[in-house]
Amino acid sequence: MRIAVPSKGRLREPTIELLQDAGLGPETPGDRALAFPCRNAPVEGLLVRADDIPEYVQDGVVDCGVTGMDIVRERGADVLELARLGFGACSLEAAVPNESDVQRVEDLKGARVATSFPRLAHELLPDAELVDVHGSVELAPRLGLADAIVDLVSSGSTLRTNGLRSVGVLLESQAVLIGPREPHEEAVQLAGVFKSVVDARAARYLMLNAPDESLAQICALVPGSGSPSVIPLAEQGMHAVHSVVPAEDVWRLLPQLEAAGATSILLVPLERMLG
Ligand code: AMP
Repeated sequence: MRIAVPSKGRLREPTIELLQDAGLGPETPGDRALAFPCRNAPVEGLLVRADDIPEYVQDGVVDCGVTGMDIVRERGADVLELARLGFGACSLEAAVPNESDVQRVEDLKGARVATSFPRLAHELLPDAELVDVHGSVELAPRLGLADAIVDLVSSGSTLRTNGLRSVGVLLESQAVLIGPREPHEEAVQLAGVFKSVVDARAARYLMLNAPDESLAQICALVPGSGSPSVIPLAEQGMHAVHSVVPAEDVWRLLPQLEAAGATSILLVPLERMLG
């Protein structure tokens, strides 16, 4: 099976790391490599531009590929999203100079909007007059080329540095695994493996000991996938509670559990989550 991997940019390394965490054993490609084999699976990685990946997948040159959702939409390729990969998160946003009167996306009717996403901008802002630029989009208002821009934003610091403020999100994006309309069984299986890794990365396994008097309160605090496992300990009046919790909740959850009387709290990473 052939999988297209972005040859450069911010999606390249996280994609190779995903192949690694999925257990495929990709041979680390050198900077100039065009392809790399995997040690543990009959999978070949082809390093191509992220922009070209939707077309390669659509045309069947490769069996599947990793690229940004924004790129898939911008290229207008007829492909299937097989899995969301949880990295490369960003949003396509409309932004204006700080001093502009524009407050909302609706105010951009008839405005000149600079973008390197002409297709998406036309689809999402049909009443704007688009100015096509390639790179340094943030400069366009300062150069007097446009009243606003449509560009990808993740932290918002590039906008701030350039004296711009967002007036609205047009599209949320992240990296995706895509396949052709009728994907091969192997590509669907790989999507399942990737999902199990992506889900596991977003979760942690929590173990703790709870005195019987606070067991109910502690179980109520732990969301878990389903219900937590409650296991009697050798010591009378104590139970162990095991549960899977969202990684993003951990910072809030642990002090609450401690305050509720939980002891010996352990938190460990997960490799895979299925079912
Ligand atoms: P690059 O090759 O580094 O330009 O990355 C291209 C892709 O990375 C974009 O099409 C997005 O899917 C994703 N991405 C994630 N965050 C950002 C960001 N802040 N700016 C641009 N692209 C981003």
